[in-house]
Amino acid sequence: MATKLAPMCRELVVFLIKVVLVAALLLLIGDFLSTFFYHVPEHVFGKFHTIVHHGKNRSFIHYAVLSKNPLVILDGFLGALPYFIFIPFGWQISPVGTVIALILGELHVIWRHVSIINWQTPKAIALGCKLLFITTPERHWQHHQNANLAYGDIFTFYHVPAVAWMQFLMVVKKKYRQSTSIFKA
Ligand SMILES: [Zn+2]
Ligand SMILES: [Zn+2]
Repeated sequence: MATKLAPMCRELVVFLIKVVLVAALLLLIGDFLSTFFYHVPEHVFGKFHTIVHHGKNRSFIHYAVLSKNPLVILDGFLGALPYFIFIPFGWQISPVGTVIALILGELHVIWRHVSIINWQTPKAIALGCKLLFITTPERHWQHHQNANLAYGDIFTFYHVPAVAWMQFLMVVKKKYRQSTSIFKA
């Protein structure tokens, strides 16, 4: 009996490690790509995300991408695309971990936008998020009010490199504008 249990336990542990690793990796990679290749460049070069996501008088539904407005859905889709790219890879290692990552990612989108309905994160959850570097609704709300604050839709440690990336892209944009104005002159 004991000889049969040991391999089963080992299998279970390996299964759980794969689930946690794949779920965490998909969210980490998804948030990284979404922040650095969509969110920050959109703030520097685009208007679309700013209008749709940061506009005034938007409802909770708009922010949480539950709206039927095609533009809101498009912004949400582009932001979520990086999470989908790696699904086939995650699926090969752990289908359960992949599904959990997608569910957690979607739930976090909704949760981080509850500030607009006067949500206050309980202290214990806020502390847990701080320890795990997870963005709370309060933190994400700062980003909605000021596009220079609180980057990292899911993970707070993306904020500092995101701001550095934004400043670099601003310089690129400025240089491009100068060169085109010289060219026009
Ligand atoms: Zn938001
Ligand atoms: Zn933004």
